[in-house]
Amino acid sequence: MFLEPHFKGQRSGWIEVICGSMFSGKTEELIRRLKRAKIANQKVEIFKPKIDTRYDDTKVVSHDANSILSVPISDSSKLLELAEGVGVVGVDEAQFFDEGLTEVCEQLALRGKRVIIAGLDMDYRGKPFGPIPNLLAVAEYITKVHAICQHCGNLATHSYRLSEDGGTVVLGEKDRYEARCRTCYHMGNILNLQVRTNGAEETKKG
Ligand code: ZN
Repeated sequence: MFLEPHFKGQRSGWIEVICGSMFSGKTEELIRRLKRAKIANQKVEIFKPKIDTRYDDTKVVSHDANSILSVPISDSSKLLELAEGVGVVGVDEAQFFDEGLTEVCEQLALRGKRVIIAGLDMDYRGKPFGPIPNLLAVAEYITKVHAICQHCGNLATHSYRLSEDGGTVVLGEKDRYEARCRTCYHMGNILNLQVRTNGAEETKKG
């Protein structure tokens, strides 16, 4: 569990990143930290990319419906003006933001703000996702949360895509993705490849 750091008499800001696969509880952890900051009478604001249209337009909604109000924005640079006067800046689904988010977060931290980022560390191909890898490099605190592998019950780090839709950005839920451990993720990919190769051969024959 993340415990808020104490900076005695310092007005310095910092960056925290909460990352992990789908269904790992990133948003829940973000909301938990923001609610604690609210209890401490800090001004809290949450931002998310406009692209995330799941559930509700104005809320960060986690999978257990423990939600908090948020502001959808299209460009990371908007954060600089919108976070004016805010002490704790939360960003959800940060992987969908542009690469400029890292620079923006560093600026906000320099202005004395606590910046809490939540996002997928890897896409469904197992590759680092959007601005998250750079944010991990510059963050003071990193928390990697784990889901449970839906195949074997081990800790899951990968988001396995069940559907064949193209593009990295496919928003979806349990019907499209599974949380998987490294082994089950790779086994799934190998099986898929075999099915596709066999399918192609069948087509050639027919
Ligand atoms: Zn597994």
